[in-house]
Amino acid sequence: MRHIAIIGSGPAGYYTAEAAQKHWGDDARIDIFDMLPVPFGLIRTGVAPDHQSIKSVSRRFEKTNLTENVRFVGNVTVGEDISVSELQEMYDAVVLATGAPRDRELGLPGEELGNIFGSAAFVGWYNGHPHFAKLAPDLSGRHAVVIGMGNVALDVARILAKTPREFDGADIVQHALHALDASNIQTITIVGRRGPHQIMMTPKELGELMHLERASPMVDPADLPDEAEDALLEPGLRKSVRHLRDFAAIPASIHGETPVTIEFDMFASPIVFHGDGVVREIELEETRVEAGRAIGTGRTYRIKADMVVSCIGYRTSPIPDVPFDERAGRFANDEGRILNGLYAVGWARRGPSGTIGTNRPDGYSVVEKIAEDIESGALGNGGKRGRKAFDEFAAAKGLDIVTFRDWKKIEEAEEAAGRAGAPREKFVDIAAMIAAKEQ
Ligand code: NAP
Repeated sequence: MRHIAIIGSGPAGYYTAEAAQKHWGDDARIDIFDMLPVPFGLIRTGVAPDHQSIKSVSRRFEKTNLTENVRFVGNVTVGEDISVSELQEMYDAVVLATGAPRDRELGLPGEELGNIFGSAAFVGWYNGHPHFAKLAPDLSGRHAVVIGMGNVALDVARILAKTPREFDGADIVQHALHALDASNIQTITIVGRRGPHQIMMTPKELGELMHLERASPMVDPADLPDEAEDALLEPGLRKSVRHLRDFAAIPASIHGETPVTIEFDMFASPIVFHGDGVVREIELEETRVEAGRAIGTGRTYRIKADMVVSCIGYRTSPIPDVPFDERAGRFANDEGRILNGLYAVGWARRGPSGTIGTNRPDGYSVVEKIAEDIESGALGNGGKRGRKAFDEFAAAKGLDIVTFRDWKKIEEAEEAAGRAGAPREKFVDIAAMIAAKEQ
């Protein structure tokens, strides 16, 4: 029997469990740990609440969890409730699938001013992540600035632009819905340090900006390269640039009719935040792109900013005694291997890139590595006690474990609480989640 512990119940964790289940069948017992009492990580608290179809992958993860050999162990923080080395004594392989939940910082003067948020915090706020539910961004100003030209920046800009009616069928949490309903924001500026040919936003998501009820996207035609150059782009990027060209062609009269404008400010790198306790303006330096890199021109200007969300990427949270690559912001690993019997997968392995589906091959690949290490004898000759040992440890420590069955009770309560047309109303604090499982 092989005992495998997976830390993190997001897509990378569940795809790894699925792969392990396929590989070893009844010869393996797989425990998926999560610090929250609820599973699915990024699917629950990262994917935008108005993108429900992407969230449906959780049904596949549920199927994995309903096989007897896989179990969910929620409400356990590895590194606090139990150490990685304690887990390694119990399980043949420990796989870190903890994602990248911390914001990368810009490292600019004024970044500590009020109403400036990283995307992990801001997305966590509108998605009901217990760590960020109390963020309370002030949306009473007219100008919001979103830094970065990736899909997270796009999510944030779209959410800020939508009317309450456009959240029909979405699982955005009530506190965010109310705040957005009362929002005064009229201009959302998306700041990109490079240009249209370097945009990271994908076409399907970018196209959604054309169909917003009260907002219209605006691109300065002067920022667009010669159209003939688009032919050299790979097809996805070419489609994204096509959207930018369509945005640039929207007549001024349309912008006059929509109360909210989503402006793209490209070739602009933020350098200083200005304010009086709270952010009021951002100073930007014009850039040009050389060999794919943004180069500052020395010319600067300021734009208004009553709130700022910086969407420039994420870092993995370090865990005591696990080698960490500070520069890359993820666990130090060689194709998933960190130390003997300790592995990383998903964003914790490769950094914050790719779609949910990218984690599938990643999960299958780490299981291959584990199988190779078992085969070669590197992981010893078995004899570990896996979940039996963990259950004894949890009982002795008095840990309040949340099982998958408990989660189904929490889920039922969330579904019952959903406003008309919404799939659920999420609990936004851990005590409420725990209380719901006790019902
Ligand atoms: P991303 O795609 O890597 O975009 C990050 C953006 O931040 C880039 O435009 C980057 O510019 C910019 N940036 C980085 N450092 C900067 C700095 N110091 N100053 C100014 N700008 C800076 O990351 P993401 O948007 O966080 O998304 C993470 C992953 O999740 C991506 O793979 C994304 O596609 C995926 N995702 C997918 C969806 C979806 O499919 N619907 C939704 C959300 C997220 P440079 O390019 O110049 O570095």
